[in-house]
Amino acid sequence: MTLHLTVHRGTEQIGGSCIELEAADGARLILDAGRPLDAPREAGGLLPATLDISRPAHVVFSHPHMDHWGLVSELPASWPLSTGEKSAALMRLTLGVFGESIERPISTWHSRQGALDIGGFRVTPFLTDHSALDAYMLLIERDEVRVLYTGDFRTHGRKAALVEGMIARPPRDIDVLLMEGTNLCSDKPVVTESDLEARFLELAQAVPGHLFVDWSAQNFDRTVTLFRTARRSGRDLVLDLYAADALLQIAEGTGLPCPGDPRFPELKVIITPKMKWLYQRMGRAGFVEVIRRGCATSRQRVAARPAIVMARKSLVMDYEDRASLPMTGADCFVHSSWRGYLDASDAASGWAVAARAGARRELVHTSGHASAADLSRFARAIDPRVLVPVHGVEWDAPGIALPPVQRLRDGERWTIGRHGG
Ligand SMILES: [Zn+2]
Ligand SMILES: [Zn+2]
Repeated sequence: MTLHLTVHRGTEQIGGSCIELEAADGARLILDAGRPLDAPREAGGLLPATLDISRPAHVVFSHPHMDHWGLVSELPASWPLSTGEKSAALMRLTLGVFGESIERPISTWHSRQGALDIGGFRVTPFLTDHSALDAYMLLIERDEVRVLYTGDFRTHGRKAALVEGMIARPPRDIDVLLMEGTNLCSDKPVVTESDLEARFLELAQAVPGHLFVDWSAQNFDRTVTLFRTARRSGRDLVLDLYAADALLQIAEGTGLPCPGDPRFPELKVIITPKMKWLYQRMGRAGFVEVIRRGCATSRQRVAARPAIVMARKSLVMDYEDRASLPMTGADCFVHSSWRGYLDASDAASGWAVAARAGARRELVHTSGHASAADLSRFARAIDPRVLVPVHGVEWDAPGIALPPVQRLRDGERWTIGRHGG
């Protein structure tokens, strides 16, 4: 039996992933429809030209990073969509901030879901470790062919045990492993979240003023790391409305610290003018009111006692405005995201504001993706007949031991044979 595989986008780039499996009877399953990372915010018409939108298909999103689902509004309205329950909530939340919405149903699965039938394909989601919450590897079975798609993953986050479990007890008889390779040939820091927690704790103990931290509100592993640091150092962790919203949307059943929950009194929310305006524009003034009455603090109150304060660029601008929560020489600014997001030449960035204020500056981060060594370890454990590279730029010379590799070009249609690969 055969299955056709087309990597529409992703054989030579990180992000914008879009992969298709087509069975002999014409049934099609699309894995991810991601927005290329370098696409301007307003750009449209970004679906890969080789993706045939005139015929039916089912779409599955591996996780809630936009480089895997950001083209959702361009997909034909008749194509059914599926993803994890919390992923769907985060996708809707993200678009809401841009004043957009997903005007169609998304079928969801929960994190312990067994196999599903999606458009005639048997799909088993495996919750995995990544910087996005609710990220999955997907085992796809059809006509006796077994394909494992890793999505994005790592083995050093708070869910590392899930991937280690898979390495210890790999799924059998994988014909094709579609694996990401973001960190091939890279020297990006790959340390555990507990290592980061120790580093943040050192800073919290050494710095007399605030720790202003720039991190992604949807990197919940990092939110937990910072919450634990706050609790251990006797500080509050101050989030903005968006980060509070994200936690409230997904916290149920996860044990994550949640604003307003009496078990997490160190968690405070700051309502800045810009975010308040944004939520009012989204028609969610009620949410702002709930936060205001529940767990909100003010810039003045935060200024009075050293805290750990969320400090994305737009927030820093609000804090500096009329010096309501200005950075001083006693504070420390921590960039806790990918280094590529740090634009030192941008005078409005927290990094530049900190320099002008004479505040200490630190980079404290770990990658959301597996190291090259872990990619090799994972691929060899899965031991597929063939590995098809995606989501990487160094696949031509990956520099690690791998199973047999089938290099494809974007848009090339390749036939997976049960025998002969
Ligand atoms: Zn990605
Ligand atoms: Zn990702």
